[in-house]
Amino acid sequence: MTVAAPGAEPARDYDVLIAGAGLVGLALAPALVGLGLRVALADRMPVAMPALPDGDADWDPRVYAISPGSATFLRSVGGWQALPPERITAVESMRVAGDGGATIAFSAYDLGERALAWIVEERALRAALVPCARIAGVDTYAPRSFAALAWSADAGTLDFDDGTRVTARLVVAADGLHSWVRGAAGIEAAIKPYGQTAVVAHFGCERAHHGCARQWFLPDGGILAWLPLPGHRISIVWSAPAALAAELLALDASALAARVAAAGQHALGVLETLAPPAAFPLAFMRLPASIAHRLALVGDAAHGIHPLAGQGVNLGFGDAEALCAVLRERGPVTDAGAPALLERYARRRVEPVQAMQTVTDGLVRLFGASNPLLKALRNLGMSAVDRLPLAKRLLAQSALH
Ligand SMILES: Cc1cc2nc3c(=O)[nH]c(=O)nc-3n(C[C@H](O)[C@H](O)[C@H](O)COP(=O)(O)OP(=O)(O)OC[C@H]3O[C@@H](n4cnc5c(N)ncnc54)[C@H](O)[C@@H]3O)c2cc1C
Repeated sequence: MTVAAPGAEPARDYDVLIAGAGLVGLALAPALVGLGLRVALADRMPVAMPALPDGDADWDPRVYAISPGSATFLRSVGGWQALPPERITAVESMRVAGDGGATIAFSAYDLGERALAWIVEERALRAALVPCARIAGVDTYAPRSFAALAWSADAGTLDFDDGTRVTARLVVAADGLHSWVRGAAGIEAAIKPYGQTAVVAHFGCERAHHGCARQWFLPDGGILAWLPLPGHRISIVWSAPAALAAELLALDASALAARVAAAGQHALGVLETLAPPAAFPLAFMRLPASIAHRLALVGDAAHGIHPLAGQGVNLGFGDAEALCAVLRERGPVTDAGAPALLERYARRRVEPVQAMQTVTDGLVRLFGASNPLLKALRNLGMSAVDRLPLAKRLLAQSALH
């Protein structure tokens, strides 16, 4: 990986410029180099390998449920096998409880899978992916702020605020929900806040979790998820109405642990807060299109979803994989930003992205409604699906892959 210092003169003309080195941009970069493309990666933050602590103390508050499909993609770029096994947890089963007593359960064993998902820290994923980009020979422009983006018939040109200029046949916007690149390309995005804040924290638990992830749809419209971490530990995401989130964030460690244990019906006995909680406001975003002239959007720059299904970054890895597949199958086309290729990419992503957005947004709305009839119906529906192995399998398979 060439780190281009301000004022230096690196090769500045690329097949693909990926703007944003979050997990999606980081995984996409080496995958595209593997297709014989010249790739640049740019971010306002340094693209550096975070240090992982020795031993099993100190867990990153940001953890992700990575689907088996995403794990396969990450393996193809060399990232998955670089993760320290002692910091990954297999989700072997999952129990979801409605707000009226209904439950639905999934088991990896029943689906013939090793795991429904893998819980991995963001820090560990970055530490695994940064060397993949470096070894592949991706040119990195970071930390650099984006200043201007211009388009000609055959290229996109990005100016950084230090005066460096990079051109590419294809620009990939991987710069998150509030994407600067998307705005600079004139794509309007309505970002709709859910009025909920995700409170995330880690807890020690009295009883073993046995690799079971738990989720509760709560009577106030909030959603609480407990995800297994190695040993007697869990990570939680409590998507709470904003006022409740503020209350939770103000609690001291023992009061917070007691509140989370009670909301989860003491399923794992007594909890102990391991680190102060962090908070993330939640929003929905659907775009009319994931492409424009010489531009493809991936990850949160292309779609915003509620984290209740733990699918945001998985959807982003799916975008990256689809873009790679289209470019791999480009045949004699040498121009990575050719309109026909971009249209193929957009067509491939429309259905999976809309389906995931419809399901997650629909569930938030369904469980957020206080109408007693809806409450009875949603719980009935949940119990019914739990008794239909085929419907359950279909539901689980789309989340797995
Ligand atoms: C509480 C919570 C829990 C979640 N849990 C899960 C889960 O279990 N599983 C799952 O699949 N998903 C989960 N998600 C969703 C997941 O966090 C996102 O989908 C994912 O982080 C998006 O990655 P990304 O690379 O697209 O964007 P980002 O992570 O937002 O990265 C964008 C990058 O672009 C850079 N950037 C942005 N603007 C600029 C600019 N102007 N100039 C230069 N650089 C810029 C940033 O520095 C950053 O590096 C969760 C989300 C939340 C809030």
